[in-house]
Amino acid sequence: MMSFILVDLTVIPEAVKRVYLISRLGLQLPMLTVFFALTFLPSYNKIYHLVLCSSLLGVCYANYWLIVQCWKIAEFSFSYEGTFLYGLYCMFIMRLSFKYSIAFVLLSIVGFSAVVLMYPVYDSFGTVNLGFVSLGLFISLVGVKQIENLFARFAQVNEKLVHLNQIDQLTGLYNRGALERHFDRMLSLAARTNSPISIFVIDLDNFKDFNDGYGHLRGDEVIQIQATILNQVFNRDSDIVARYGGEEFVVISLGNDLLASEALAANVLRGWQLKKIKHAKGNGQSIVNCSIGLISTRVDKTTQKKDLFDQADKALYQAKNTGRARYVSASEDIALSY
Ligand code: GH3
Ligand code: MG
Ligand code: MG
Repeated sequence: MMSFILVDLTVIPEAVKRVYLISRLGLQLPMLTVFFALTFLPSYNKIYHLVLCSSLLGVCYANYWLIVQCWKIAEFSFSYEGTFLYGLYCMFIMRLSFKYSIAFVLLSIVGFSAVVLMYPVYDSFGTVNLGFVSLGLFISLVGVKQIENLFARFAQVNEKLVHLNQIDQLTGLYNRGALERHFDRMLSLAARTNSPISIFVIDLDNFKDFNDGYGHLRGDEVIQIQATILNQVFNRDSDIVARYGGEEFVVISLGNDLLASEALAANVLRGWQLKKIKHAKGNGQSIVNCSIGLISTRVDKTTQKKDLFDQADKALYQAKNTGRARYVSASEDIALSY
């Protein structure tokens, strides 16, 4: 807008140059400078639409004042199209919300109507110009509403996609990708709050035999039951329960020391004992069960999630090697606990 000044000065009459400069440099430039300064406020995002709408209205009204002054001083008809351009800039470039766009459009039309009705600046073209500005702004308003609706729909779909991208279809638990992200977050939270973090790696026992003996669909049901048991045992909002892949699950929880974590692992095993789902095929141990490797420890900023996971995984390996249907806690000398 300011870059127009040089061009404008070459085409406007000498007599109105002073009011022109007052409007541009004395009114509009300070308004835009205040607008620019406000963008540095920490809470700027909250007042963005209000600030944008009022600044641009201010600029608009400074222009109306200029139009009137040019007419009064030299009967010069200063161009009115700027009014329309301010609206387009505000609504489509700066993405003023629909609510504030309505306010902007109405108030800028009120101002322009006053100019046209009170001063014969544009002769008989006054009402035509007013019609052009009003209709143009209203059409823009419809455009703003359509764009806003479209964005809202995109945001909804995007939210759904982000959710789906995190969830395992069979169980509704977090998938492996989501687990990795949450693991990082939980680890830094545990380090910052100095609370223990527990990692459980859970694997169904002799599941290949179960699948071979009872069919894949029945196997899928067992995987879903494992998810239900885990959700029942690890029911805090902060617990992250994930299907790591196949028949393997990982749980991360905060705030449980080793004893509490072992009690949770025992509850998972008890969950299967209560279900009593027959597993009489291959190496099955009469009922379906799982093995659990777990670690519960305090961490600091240097702790690597891979190290924690490896220790819990090693403990799982021990649980498998020492008879399955049990949990093993990782500690300095990985001890059998159940
Ligand atoms: P272990 O006790 O040592 O864990 O023996 P296992 O037979 O459970 O272990 P293994 O890794 O050999 O077999 C895992 C089986 O899990 C292989 C596959 O048939 C089954 N599996 C993996 N993903 C799925 C799935 O999505 N649905 C079903 N039904 N089975 C699955
Ligand atoms: Mg298994
Ligand atoms: Mg496995």
